[in-house]
Amino acid sequence: MARTRQIIALEEHYLDAEVKAHFSSLDAALPAPVLSRLEDVGQGRLADMDAAGIDVEVLSHAPPSLQRIDAESAVPLARRANDRLYETVRAHPLRFAAFAALPTADPKAAAEELERSVSRLGFKGAMIHGPSQGVFLDDKRFWPIFERAEALDVPVYLHPANPHPAVVEAYYRDYLKDYPSLLRAAWGFTVETATEAIRLVLSGLFEAYPRLQIILGHMGEGLPFYLWRITMGLARDGKGMNFRDVFCAHFHITTSGFFSHPALLSCLMEMGIDRILFSVDYPFVDNLAATKWLETLPLCAEDREKLLCGNAKRLLKL
Ligand code: ZN
Repeated sequence: MARTRQIIALEEHYLDAEVKAHFSSLDAALPAPVLSRLEDVGQGRLADMDAAGIDVEVLSHAPPSLQRIDAESAVPLARRANDRLYETVRAHPLRFAAFAALPTADPKAAAEELERSVSRLGFKGAMIHGPSQGVFLDDKRFWPIFERAEALDVPVYLHPANPHPAVVEAYYRDYLKDYPSLLRAAWGFTVETATEAIRLVLSGLFEAYPRLQIILGHMGEGLPFYLWRITMGLARDGKGMNFRDVFCAHFHITTSGFFSHPALLSCLMEMGIDRILFSVDYPFVDNLAATKWLETLPLCAEDREKLLCGNAKRLLKL
């Protein structure tokens, strides 16, 4: 198919060998083909992108990245992993960009690493995979990271992580034997990440940092669909919270792993096209499934261009 516009994909994962060594169960948890695609940041990945017509991937580490690693290990590890990611981007500067991995167990060091990654390595922001060692990111100890993101004018991509163990026990345990995905893409990721996003809004983070931008994958983890009801519910508490206003001013969403016309149209009607960006969630999701879906989008040419690349170019200054 002849194309004139670019396709930029934002939530595209790879695996750093040294980070991977901290997660011995990872190999067992991932199917072999997914694992090998995660580890390939060269010809195999580029061939997969070409086959699907994807021009640029913004690379980020696969979950759980550094969010479960203690400060002593994570701080130097982040530096080394981001330096290696920089070399990957440098090898194919027209095909790859990057989000930094941050050692959130030491928030001040994480803020410094974000600054180094953006200012010295040319990274486009950071990706954080859920709570840091079990602590939600709205905790004030993490605010230096968000303060620095605002100062650098880069977004923080909030990626799903497994739910809290107590939640797993109370809500999911009974069905995990037959349906392990219940904990992840099917439902657990969504609830966990949407809850974390709501907590960020309630914490007053966006009043402290009025230009801060957060990206949520998977069509905003369901939040756009629920905007009306969340806003109505929180308004009842009389604290002057307008959830819709804060969410639509501070969040962008992507299509990662969620290729549905009704879901997209719901997000579009609630948030507008300017805050919706294309993503695949490679290699957990196939590039071709995503770009085949793009061919059928019920959007005008101008809106299509925004979703495929225009919004990414603006938000990430690509
Ligand atoms: Zn992902």
